[in-house]
Amino acid sequence: MRCFLALIAFLSCLSAPAHAQSADGCSKSQRQMAAHAVGDANQMTIMAAVSIADHELFAKWFGSYSTPNAETVRATLKSAVTAMRSGRVSVQCVPAQGDGCQDGTIAWVSRPQAFVLNLCPGFFDLPMLDTATPDGGPRGDSTQEGTVLHEMTHFQQVGRTEDYCYTRRVCAEMATARPGNAIRNADSYQYFAEDIIYLSRQSQPPGKTAKSGP
Ligand SMILES: [Zn+2]
Repeated sequence: MRCFLALIAFLSCLSAPAHAQSADGCSKSQRQMAAHAVGDANQMTIMAAVSIADHELFAKWFGSYSTPNAETVRATLKSAVTAMRSGRVSVQCVPAQGDGCQDGTIAWVSRPQAFVLNLCPGFFDLPMLDTATPDGGPRGDSTQEGTVLHEMTHFQQVGRTEDYCYTRRVCAEMATARPGNAIRNADSYQYFAEDIIYLSRQSQPPGKTAKSGP
């Protein structure tokens, strides 16, 4: 019963939208895109957190299922939602070749600096989740919402995750070989959450839309 009540309390977070509180150095369109990405990342992460179970996607990104590992993943995702909903997420748009944006970096955070997301120009070239596909587009295998979650998991108060691997191919291999690292790896959270959304799309008949009236 306690778990059920906790889930209800957690899902009640759905009623108010998350958004970035401030966006330093960003153009108007960058500010809008960042706000959209943070809001949708919050929804994506809620879905991912309530979808944790002993199923294929968990094994794909976090290795074989165990209760302690599932608890770690759930706690990290719930902490990310709490952070995104705290009103304390802020965005800084870093210019090309600016601080930390060299070598193809698309976003970065400083772990104790809650919750400042530094977004490089490449971030804004990533697809949004609603147009992306799991096999990746021209920008590879990442989305703006997934990147926001990736960065959020790094913070001290969220998951203190590392970057043990990047890319879907390498991180899927790591889940099998080293699940202990996978549950502490930022990209693994990103791909799990993105895939939960892709999977939920597949289970909807094409063309079906939400019912909006009686
Ligand atoms: Zn990272």
